Amino acid sequence: MANPSPSTSSTSAADGFVGAIGNTPLIGLPKLSAALGRRILGKAEFLNPGGSVKDRAARGIVEDFEVRGLLKPGGVVVEGTAGNTGIGLALVGNARGYRTIIVMPDDQAPEKYGLLRTFGAELHVVPAAPYTNQANYYHEARRIAEATPGAVWANQFENTANRDAHERTTGPEILSQTGGALDAFVAAAGTGGTIAGVGRALKAYAASIRVVLADPYGSALFSYVTTGELAAEGDSNAEGIGIKRIVANFAGAPVDDALRVDDRTLTEMAHWLVREEGLFVGGSAALNVAAAARYSRTLPAGSTVVTILCDGGERYRSRLYDDAWLRENDVVPQAKDLEFL
Ligand code: PMP
Repeated sequence: MANPSPSTSSTSAADGFVGAIGNTPLIGLPKLSAALGRRILGKAEFLNPGGSVKDRAARGIVEDFEVRGLLKPGGVVVEGTAGNTGIGLALVGNARGYRTIIVMPDDQAPEKYGLLRTFGAELHVVPAAPYTNQANYYHEARRIAEATPGAVWANQFENTANRDAHERTTGPEILSQTGGALDAFVAAAGTGGTIAGVGRALKAYAASIRVVLADPYGSALFSYVTTGELAAEGDSNAEGIGIKRIVANFAGAPVDDALRVDDRTLTEMAHWLVREEGLFVGGSAALNVAAAARYSRTLPAGSTVVTILCDGGERYRSRLYDDAWLRENDVVPQAKDLEFL
């Protein structure tokens, strides 16, 4: 086994905002780990300068366009997004001198639209529609990019510069921060960039490290990984994760196993994390931690499982952390301790 490669993402003052992306702490969850008898570690992606794991993809995609000569000063980046990729692209764009046009479906947390407007992105909000409908935000972003002179379409789903950013930075950082001593990596997929890129880096180091998909209900990936068939069941309020088709970034993921987590468990975990571990995170991060905890139980005592804390709770204060919203969605947290796991 080779030594875990050192992190290759640099934090350089000269690179400004862009140089501050990555090299996030790997945070232990001591109370959860003690309860399970297994070590659970969360990669604190909410500490990226744009507040989410998608800052890495935004940087990777923009730098790839620059290297290929497709994006020049004053250029325009267009993207369809649940929010976080747009936020990352808007800030990278501001720092590097690009305009951003962001298309979002109308069913996401209001905080994310507000941030994009504050950052000066041109925001287009379209009615939420399935991918098979041409009105879907993904297709609208493609059409805007095609109709805008000098624009590039980030296309985070099919553009594997997204996955490559994680293979080059997130994966090596996890290996370096654990000294290569981890047994499993558990993560949800929105585009699959995180699980594919990190998974590839981990597998290149040691094929024995298990790469596990955490899926919300309403997504077809759990079924795909466990049966080979794309099939979705149920629904979820989780934002930025879950998908019903196979996209290029997910297709490159070496996934060994999958598990599903429902919204009640996600909500219980989100509130437990802030109350017991002092970690204020978004729904996908809470789902990841719940899945990591459940998966760890299938491993021997003392095993180490790493997951991703994708973004912070601030972005979801009007939903996941709002009493009225929790009541309306019938997910008011009520569990004592970790009995929901
Ligand atoms: N969590 C949140 C909150 C996100 O916005 C995203 C990206 N859509 C993810 C998780 C999933 O990341 P990835 O696209 O790398 O699969």
